[in-house]
Amino acid sequence: MHAVRILPGCSGSFTARSVLIREYRQRTISSFSVGQLVRQFRQNATPKDAAAVVVGAGPAGIAVVGNLLEQIKDDGKIVWVDEQFQGGRINKFYREVPGNTAVKLFVDYAEALKPFQHILNTAHKPNAITALEKLPQSGTCSLSYAGDMLNLLTAGLRQHPRIQTVEGKATSAHLDPQSKHWTLTTTSESSLTTSPLVVYCTGAFPSTTPLPPSSPPTIPLDTALTPSILSTTIPRDQPFTIGVIGGSHSAILVLMNLYKLTTTSHPLLKIKWFTRHPTLRYAVQKDGYIQYDNTGLKGKAAEFGRTQLDGDVLLTSDAGKFITRIDCSGGKEKEWALLERELKDCQGVVQAVGYTPAPIPEVRIGDGKEVVKLRKDARTGAFYAEDGEKKSIGLFGAGIAFPEEVDTPEGEREYAVGMWKFMKFLKRVVPEWVEGSRA
Ligand SMILES: Cc1cc2nc3c(=O)[nH]c(=O)nc-3n(C[C@H](O)[C@H](O)[C@H](O)COP(=O)(O)OP(=O)(O)OC[C@H]3O[C@@H](n4cnc5c(N)ncnc54)[C@H](O)[C@@H]3O)c2cc1C
Repeated sequence: MHAVRILPGCSGSFTARSVLIREYRQRTISSFSVGQLVRQFRQNATPKDAAAVVVGAGPAGIAVVGNLLEQIKDDGKIVWVDEQFQGGRINKFYREVPGNTAVKLFVDYAEALKPFQHILNTAHKPNAITALEKLPQSGTCSLSYAGDMLNLLTAGLRQHPRIQTVEGKATSAHLDPQSKHWTLTTTSESSLTTSPLVVYCTGAFPSTTPLPPSSPPTIPLDTALTPSILSTTIPRDQPFTIGVIGGSHSAILVLMNLYKLTTTSHPLLKIKWFTRHPTLRYAVQKDGYIQYDNTGLKGKAAEFGRTQLDGDVLLTSDAGKFITRIDCSGGKEKEWALLERELKDCQGVVQAVGYTPAPIPEVRIGDGKEVVKLRKDARTGAFYAEDGEKKSIGLFGAGIAFPEEVDTPEGEREYAVGMWKFMKFLKRVVPEWVEGSRA
């Protein structure tokens, strides 16, 4: 674990080691080891604060970095931490997933900020954004298009002179209440840094729940959402029954993927679908807004649900020849008993039961003896110490792990998840975050 500071003069993407190796090679200083040079470089370094630190380089982290560049008017540096800088889970796991938002919203996301526009204007064509622009704008597309666009923006941001990227995992953040500055520690050798403003965009991963002991092995949801991997995970030439638990967007996509396998490469595959909701809920375009925008099915999942799965449709649909619905409504005890009975003769099970925020870098305040528990204002993105007053500590969250809470026109509360929704939220709150960090 390393807690060092930004090295002056190292602007743009860097690791201290690579800078020094280059310097070492250029100067051919044969009597110095690279390790000695690293140490000497650090000792000579004047400590320098960053204006902001962003943890996570998925769609939310990218949008936060772009908004901070726009809002921090002076030359303040933005330090950006991620292990891979590859557009988060969209590129890692969802490239084969059909998108559930209109193509136009991916284009809107990419064009929403001046620093992004500069990247798009200076990128060679054709590129990821021209590919998106060619598609019908009100339709949906594979998330690989969105993933390519995220990679284009990431590459452009990493070239920006005010952004310093750190390839590593942020492990802790420690607030000095006097200076109101955070010190962030990462696993990277070239890690950092102190800053009055830290944003966690650390994402979420598929949730799992305990299953009866007699249950078959789990097939990870990420695998089940990727047809090219799923098809090689399940044997083709022998009977195989797979349980799918859940009724959300992801569960419907998994059922769709499995059904496609039954009609192509895996004719012996059968599916048991465990759901608490035999009828499905769809996003509905109303006058000026979308009802169930954040909870209803959209795009290809909605189409498949409507034509193959919903209520009595399953009894006569083509998918119904391979999918048996197990109605788990009626309480947890009944559900457990059904899982116990019905999973016994399955050879695999997929849990599509929601997403859990990834563990955040631990937070300490003051003497730093104990990790501080946090609560969050989902309207502003601000974190507070659980046992402290509701006063900004300069720590914020965004993205699927910390989405904005919104009121629907029907008076319900929902969490706004989606790339364009992250962007809209951030355009509203980042100016306040930046102003607060300067107070
Ligand atoms: C199946 C599915 C389909 C979706 N389809 C759409 C769609 O069609 N349209 C749409 O707009 N949205 C869609 N979404 C919603 C949303 O856009 C994605 O979930 C998106 O990946 C969320 O972005 P994020 O940046 O919050 O998190 P992530 O993409 O998970 O990125 C988080 C990043 O933070 C990094 N990180 C985490 N912890 C640390 C740490 N301690 N230190 C350093 N780095 C760290 C991770 O490595 C990762 O790179 C979909 C979501 C799912 C699950």
